[in-house]
Amino acid sequence: MDLKKFIRDIPNFPKEGIIFKDITPLLKDAEAFKEAIDKMIEYYRDAEFDYIVGIEARGFLIGAPMAIEMGKGFIPIRKPGKLPADILSKDYDLEYGSNRIEIHRDAISPGDRVLIIDDLLATGGTIAAAVELIEELGGQVAGIGFLYELSELKGRDLLTGYDVFSLMKE
Ligand code: AMP
Repeated sequence: MDLKKFIRDIPNFPKEGIIFKDITPLLKDAEAFKEAIDKMIEYYRDAEFDYIVGIEARGFLIGAPMAIEMGKGFIPIRKPGKLPADILSKDYDLEYGSNRIEIHRDAISPGDRVLIIDDLLATGGTIAAAVELIEELGGQVAGIGFLYELSELKGRDLLTGYDVFSLMKE
């Protein structure tokens, strides 16, 4: 199946000049959604890790089904003010603005190996911040996976030394 057909371009959202990659058509199609999750899982079949870390909110939609299918726990990284317990937070730049992400301090124990999953790699700022949060808590990043990569933005350059996988690229 050509999964790219299910990713829709929305020009000038959320800001003038940004072409937003809308994954909702993929989520809505039962076969396409399943094939996307299955292919992500296939890539990590032999990976050694303890948890999947998903980035709010679209990273949850990809990471959570992977975690269930792979028999692993799921750890959320969230936007500010959402996590109720003691948190560690990190500020970062986004393709369209700046933001902060947070994780529960007790979500990761030293030595835990995690896969980080998000829907899309753009500038890489979000994932680089997520890597810092995980490593600051003593975790190890076993891999970083996306549904879609905007190669032109060179997000990979911020993630050298890590195994970075994208199901689709442009
Ligand atoms: P970045 O930190 O620049 O790699 O941005 C990645 C995060 O922002 C991901 O969580 C994406 O969901 C979102 N994002 C950034 N640019 C786009 C885009 N052009 N289309 C859809 N989502 C985007």
